[in-house]
Amino acid sequence: MAGGCVLVIGEPAEGAVAPVTLEVLGAGRALAQQLGVPVEVAVLGQEVDGQAAELIERGADRVHLLVDPRLAPYQADAWVPVLADLVRETGAQIVLLSHTQTGREFGPRLAFRLGTGIVTDCAEFQLDARGRLRAIKPVYGGNAVAEYTIAGDGVQVASLRPKLLDPAPPVPGHQGEVVRPPVRLDDQQIRTRAGERVRAAMAGPDLENAQRVVAGGRGVGGPENWRLIEEFADAIGAAVGASRAAVDAGWVPGPLQIGLTGAKISPQLYVAVGISGAVQHMAGCQGARTVVAINRDPEANIFKHAHIGVVGNVKEVLPALTRKCRELTGR
Ligand SMILES: Cc1cc2nc3c(=O)[nH]c(=O)nc-3n(C[C@H](O)[C@H](O)[C@H](O)COP(=O)(O)OP(=O)(O)OC[C@H]3O[C@@H](n4cnc5c(N)ncnc54)[C@H](O)[C@@H]3O)c2cc1C
Repeated sequence: MAGGCVLVIGEPAEGAVAPVTLEVLGAGRALAQQLGVPVEVAVLGQEVDGQAAELIERGADRVHLLVDPRLAPYQADAWVPVLADLVRETGAQIVLLSHTQTGREFGPRLAFRLGTGIVTDCAEFQLDARGRLRAIKPVYGGNAVAEYTIAGDGVQVASLRPKLLDPAPPVPGHQGEVVRPPVRLDDQQIRTRAGERVRAAMAGPDLENAQRVVAGGRGVGGPENWRLIEEFADAIGAAVGASRAAVDAGWVPGPLQIGLTGAKISPQLYVAVGISGAVQHMAGCQGARTVVAINRDPEANIFKHAHIGVVGNVKEVLPALTRKCRELTGR
């Protein structure tokens, strides 16, 4: 067994490194520096060789390329045993991954396989006096912050909520090693197979990565008024989102929901239209830099979170705003 490390598990991605992997690498590098151990990255898949150079440039001390056709597309049954072997071989004391759709699936399974615990959806990582991981995460819809440590002396696994931390910046002149461990995988271990992958057809920018988001809630009044949201979003080049009330009413599809049980967004600009600002909604947009609220109730909770507030009726404010923005942007 090697002398220990912080091991970052790369998000499934063929070709270029996934941006969330670089966020986890930044967090892992900071911990590794404090512990005086290397930060290493595991990349699993088929066409992944090209990722090593960027990971090293951004501070990885060693990149493990685990290349096998059975590892791409991502498949938890295949990833978990391969990663468990790697964790044991590297002697990693901390394993970090991203709290994405895939991380949510394989992270807890990996921790179970390793006989340890996992802290999921963390916002920050620190070390305690013994050098054990202190994982910090918002709880109760973002109304409180909890700190967790994993009992025992074994490996500690944690996942990082995407888009809260900056990606690891380049480290000029940083040198690292690329290794290609053998992939020991028994076909019998793969009990499920990915079927067809279908990408949902959505107009406009992708909600979770958009720099500007306009979201509508119950206050929009009905599906017949939803075009006001879409037109305004179009005028400022924003993605469209929604509160759960708008989704539950059937005005818009589920993937547009922002919140605790929906998409987590961190845009530069978030415009909440006819949304009351319930804690479960705000849990999805805590990372927004500037929040603009349009609501006819001056007492609405959303105004406590807004940097700019407009008290008024959606049907009057939005068309005027759209017109003005079109004038200014020429869109
Ligand atoms: C476990 C759990 C998970 C949840 N997860 C989520 C989640 O992920 N996302 C989410 O959004 N919610 C979630 N919810 C629901 C959440 O609690 C709220 O019920 C929901 O966010 C309310 O949506 P809303 O703000 O659109 O509607 P409302 O709370 O009804 O607010 C509508 C707002 O529109 C304003 N308004 C009305 N008419 C107009 C008008 N003509 N012009 C301007 N303003 C007007 C009103 O003043 C009001 O403030 C969850 C709830 C639970 C219990």
